[in-house]
Amino acid sequence: MPFSAWPSSLWEETSLDHNFNHITSDLDCDVCIIGAGFSGLWTAIHLSSVAPEKKIVILEAAQPGFGASGRNGGWCSAFLPMSLDSIAKNSSRNSAIAMQFAMNQTISDIGLFIKNNQVNCGWVAGGTLQSATNPAHLSRLQANVSHYRQYGFGDEQISLLSAEVASRRINACNTLGATYSPHCAALHPGQLIDGLVKHCISNGVLIFGNTRVTSIESRQVFAETPDGRVRVGAAQIVRATEGYTSAIKQSHREIVPLYSYMLATEPLPDHVWESIGWEQRETFADARNMIIYAQRTADNRIAFGGRGAPYRFGSAVKSKFDQDSDVHQKIALTMHKLFPASKDAIITHRWGGPLGVARDWFTGVTFDRDSGLATMGSYVGDGVAASYLAAKTLAHLIAETSEPVTRLPWTQHVSPKWEREPFRWMGINALLKIPEIADAREMRAGRPSSLLLRFMRKFTK
Ligand SMILES: Cc1cc2nc3c(=O)[nH]c(=O)nc-3n(C[C@H](O)[C@H](O)[C@H](O)COP(=O)(O)OP(=O)(O)OC[C@H]3O[C@@H](n4cnc5c(N)ncnc54)[C@H](O)[C@@H]3O)c2cc1C
Repeated sequence: MPFSAWPSSLWEETSLDHNFNHITSDLDCDVCIIGAGFSGLWTAIHLSSVAPEKKIVILEAAQPGFGASGRNGGWCSAFLPMSLDSIAKNSSRNSAIAMQFAMNQTISDIGLFIKNNQVNCGWVAGGTLQSATNPAHLSRLQANVSHYRQYGFGDEQISLLSAEVASRRINACNTLGATYSPHCAALHPGQLIDGLVKHCISNGVLIFGNTRVTSIESRQVFAETPDGRVRVGAAQIVRATEGYTSAIKQSHREIVPLYSYMLATEPLPDHVWESIGWEQRETFADARNMIIYAQRTADNRIAFGGRGAPYRFGSAVKSKFDQDSDVHQKIALTMHKLFPASKDAIITHRWGGPLGVARDWFTGVTFDRDSGLATMGSYVGDGVAASYLAAKTLAHLIAETSEPVTRLPWTQHVSPKWEREPFRWMGINALLKIPEIADAREMRAGRPSSLLLRFMRKFTK
């Protein structure tokens, strides 16, 4: 099995240790879902609500939450990897606006699910704050707010905060200002996975662990298990494998894995929190180009993440990539610079995992009625909430309802395939260098590194 070892994540340690048996013989069902992350589990949950008569089976290569869903930053946000402009270009201005409203509503819907089902996952809908620590950051934040304003969104969507107001919420070093959006919650992703698994089981969904699909064919899949090869027949097959998709023969160039890494401190003492603030547990980032993200956890740690890892040749995903000491060190440095009061805290956990990216960085939900094959994903770093809405879209497409969710602009969006190697490796790694170079230039010059960033956005938006 390629996915044998868990990374030592904070979330893994404080959530259930699932141990679903592998499938032991051929089986037929109505819907076979491949992957038990947020996408697969939410699809099963939405489907059992809109089409309760369907027999649903989930095949998981490891155990539920093994992938990005069990390892992420716990930002349940209304963000998407594609901008409103990019959505509008692919559909229409009104569709882009509808998409943003649907994402906003998704945060409330997930909150309601958590409340109604008493899922204890540290959920706090405190919104999200993105701070500026140099003038280039500030102009980028202002441009972002103007972007939303062009689509008619006001302060209820995103607002600019002065340095003083921003620092009173979260006292990051050298804050010059920030944006705030209420459409985000912080949560413990592993415990949400536990809640979804429990809900699936109580709805009669069959989950098999240690069952890795190697081939998807018309109305059937073949899977490897510790006891050999098994066939599962299904009228509909849902591929919910995100950063691991490239290992499935028929899907090799559809989604590439890019690694993101995280660390967590020990619980911080009261005097540290008194100096930082962060009382509403807003999720936090700053406006640098190299993405960083953080949350104050329910047990008062800082969980801090960032990108910056190279793309691996051949879209490889291996457990040895779950740790990257260089990137972890850069993340720790960034955390210490932003929050000097965290310098003395012991870093108790370091981990990482692959997120999934399509060639046009656009999230897609597709369903081919003739072949019965459905796909979802390419959430990049914004899949915690988007997977709920993608799963709802897909459940309604499969159940053939005419709900408005089936008309969202990501429906039937097919991204182009990634280039063959070595061009894929060369192109992606060249692009991944740009944010770091641009950040260094911006620190020096104090204004956005426009030319470099425009070049990067040509390929990533
Ligand atoms: C470190 C990190 C931090 C992140 N932070 C955030 C964040 O704060 N907020 C946010 O919105 N998003 C974040 N993301 C992204 C987010 O976690 C993902 O977009 C989301 O979890 C994707 O869910 P998924 O179910 O589609 O994929 P995954 O969770 O990756 O699930 C795919 C599942 O499919 C299984 N699988 C793969 N191949 C096969 C196969 N052949 N057969 C059977 N099973 C298979 C895997 O084992 C896995 O369990 C982060 C990602 C990472 C890695």
